[in-house]
Amino acid sequence: MPSSDLIVHRPEGLYCPPGDFYIDPWRPVSRAVITHAHSDHARMGSAHYLAHTDSAGTLRNRLGADIALQTLAYAEVIDHHGVRVSLHPAGHVLGSAQVRIEHAGQVWVASGDYKLEDDGTCPPFEPVRCHTFITESTFGLPIYRWPSQPALFADINAWWAANAAAGKASVLYAYAFGKAQRLLHGVDASIGPIVVHGAVEPLNAVYRAAGVALPPTLRVTDPGLTKADLKRALVLAPPSAAGTPWLKRFGEHSDAFASGWMLVRGARRRRGVDRGFVMSDHADWPSLQKAIGATGAERVIVTHGSTEVMVRWLCEQGLDAQVFKTEYGADDNEDDANTMVPSAPAEEPGTQPEAAP
Ligand SMILES: [Zn+2]
Ligand SMILES: [Zn+2]
Repeated sequence: MPSSDLIVHRPEGLYCPPGDFYIDPWRPVSRAVITHAHSDHARMGSAHYLAHTDSAGTLRNRLGADIALQTLAYAEVIDHHGVRVSLHPAGHVLGSAQVRIEHAGQVWVASGDYKLEDDGTCPPFEPVRCHTFITESTFGLPIYRWPSQPALFADINAWWAANAAAGKASVLYAYAFGKAQRLLHGVDASIGPIVVHGAVEPLNAVYRAAGVALPPTLRVTDPGLTKADLKRALVLAPPSAAGTPWLKRFGEHSDAFASGWMLVRGARRRRGVDRGFVMSDHADWPSLQKAIGATGAERVIVTHGSTEVMVRWLCEQGLDAQVFKTEYGADDNEDDANTMVPSAPAEEPGTQPEAAP
């Protein structure tokens, strides 16, 4: 690998030699730049953290209130050992950022995780021109194409309204940080009350504090909540709440799971829910191609997801492409990576996504 590379792979994580810092390291380091607060990208134990201002709440929540944290606004530039560092919207979750690094005439961008469609809960993805782009590829297979936001929420609202009319609660499982708030922001709150699990509400509070409009949410223990209310309610819970006593309070209910993996029938069946809504905070296959093209990068490094398929496609486009083996990739698999990885569809031989670590 040429010694002029601005980011190299080290056992601790992705390292910037001239700046002497890491991006989303998976082991404790002295200086860490964090793209976003999902647990596989933001880990405990580093001496100093740099992240976007809107990541402060979730990072302190997860890594400890007393971490040494420096924050930047989007596009604000700092100079660190002669390396210009700035953060740019990734459109993934609140505070998510691409990291732009400039040194000796070279520009590298590390994407962290990203998606292109604006969901209203964080500033949308902005392409940043660079020589080398480090991208995720969580859903980097041609089968992954997301429905539009309006189509997705029309489906969810229709499911909720039909259950409410039938006197059944609608239990919707979704990742507690990012997905749950995106669902709250997008659903039609006039259909009925919204009840959230205890794992979801602290993150709602962080989003509200950052100025994101979320409808009122109730806890199941709320004294004002009647049995009749529960039969019309939308219930947002992390997947780990499935099968727990907490769910018994809702009696007979319909359940659904919101995830990009729901596009694949096998994943839906293994989850054992009534409905699957195809919803991801990662880019789908066309968006990955569009985002990579918009950077103008000649060299692309793929960090996680369907890395081999993506590298093959990039090489076919005439780009210099390679893989960095990282420890990212758990955030769209929640607590159950094995059951969430779909089998390769018959028409796409040899394109089975790799299991998340
Ligand atoms: Zn993420
Ligand atoms: Zn990731």
